[in-house]
Amino acid sequence: MGADRDAAIKVAVRCRIFLPFEIKQGNTVSVVDVLPGEQIKIKPPQITSLDESRYQFTFDATYGDHSTQADVFKKSIKPLVNACMEGYNSTVIAYGQTGSGKTHTILGQTDQSDVTVAPEDDTSEAGVIPRALRDLFQQLSAKQAASTDTEKFEYEVNVQFLELYGEDVRDLLQADPSNAPKLRIQDGTATKEPEVIGIKTQGVDSAEDALLCLTRGTLRRVTRATAMNAESSRSHAMMTVLVSQKTTRKVQGEDGKMIKEKSERNSKFNFVDLAGSERIKRTHATGQGIKEGININKGLLILGNVISALALQSKKKDNFVPYRDSKLTRLLRGSLGGNHKTLMVACVSPSGSNTEESLNTLRYANRAK
Ligand code: ADP
Ligand code: MG
Repeated sequence: MGADRDAAIKVAVRCRIFLPFEIKQGNTVSVVDVLPGEQIKIKPPQITSLDESRYQFTFDATYGDHSTQADVFKKSIKPLVNACMEGYNSTVIAYGQTGSGKTHTILGQTDQSDVTVAPEDDTSEAGVIPRALRDLFQQLSAKQAASTDTEKFEYEVNVQFLELYGEDVRDLLQADPSNAPKLRIQDGTATKEPEVIGIKTQGVDSAEDALLCLTRGTLRRVTRATAMNAESSRSHAMMTVLVSQKTTRKVQGEDGKMIKEKSERNSKFNFVDLAGSERIKRTHATGQGIKEGININKGLLILGNVISALALQSKKKDNFVPYRDSKLTRLLRGSLGGNHKTLMVACVSPSGSNTEESLNTLRYANRAK
């Protein structure tokens, strides 16, 4: 089935459980069916069409309301951690309307103790990032422990954490991001990766360290109450974990003397928690709120265009990819498509009141094919 699809960007869909407030409203019949074969179906909002196939989609992975954080990690994220160890850039992007479970999936209910839990552990509510960090550091330190005198392995891990808010790029590792100098993106090219000029790069020695940067930065995120969710985040957040692996081998040179041969492998792992994908009219936003809504939707729109251009490119080489049209895609250039491993996790709500948005989310995710 879809699981081995050879695509630029893989897509997983996750439907969350009903939340207590929805249950209180007596709203408990799910409009989302997770079917065998990584298929997912939305019950049509009204009987508008006899063609139900318009509401049914196939993805690389589907996770229903009983799925655990460990299920998502084991099936969809672990291969990306392994790819990152092998030197590929990996990216996980959470997409969906506010309240659909993006932050739950990507970060989860997490505190420092979670990184001491095994990445596959099913009892913790820690999300993708703490598990991936834990796994990454485990693999790196195992490689280091296996170092020998003739083949020495060393590694270095750094993190960056930024927020894209309208047209501003803010550094979430700075104590006061709104007063810190604005960051500028230097575009990447086909061979060169984009760079964020002036961003803080923090060295980390452990998964605990890295997670601490993340939890501190998350508290600094600009949040704004909307009618949909009091803590709805109106910005995109991106954490980048930069992994540098160095190997020094002692080999015999032509003259018989021992010489050192060095090799270096650099890769990064991006975790992107996108702003809510909902239409503005549903959030009753006013004033500044509306402007934000428009900017955010433009970024998501262009990301969608980039994703479908990449999907086309995997069939037809040299298809133009409009990376330059938004800051989000300029940042992600060099981490999307090509040799890189990218997963979009599209999050949906089971609630009938969100049917239209859930359908929009699945249609958006479907553009990756
Ligand atoms: P988003 O980041 O998309 O706005 P959240 O991740 O904050 O949404 O999720 C909204 C609420 O639903 C949170 O209270 C979260 O804890 C809860 N939630 C989301 N997904 C799940 C899930 N799979 N299991 C349990 N609770 C969930
Ligand atoms: Mg969120």
